[in-house]
Amino acid sequence: MIDITQVKVDTILEFKKPHPCGGYTWKVLRTGIDFKLECVKCSRVIMISRLDTTKRIKKIIEVKES
Ligand SMILES: [Zn+2]
Repeated sequence: MIDITQVKVDTILEFKKPHPCGGYTWKVLRTGIDFKLECVKCSRVIMISRLDTTKRIKKIIEVKES
């Protein structure tokens, strides 16, 4: 299980299932109860609940130190 607490703004996430554009990676724009994510490939922005984010993550690709 992914540790969602290490996901911060600017972290790159890889999801289990692709976006309709074919991209698997998302950049975190905002964290909290809902997460705001930007598709790295097509730049579309989505809002997704913290729980759904946790379920969808396959791995955390990059964690930026703050
Ligand atoms: Zn996309």
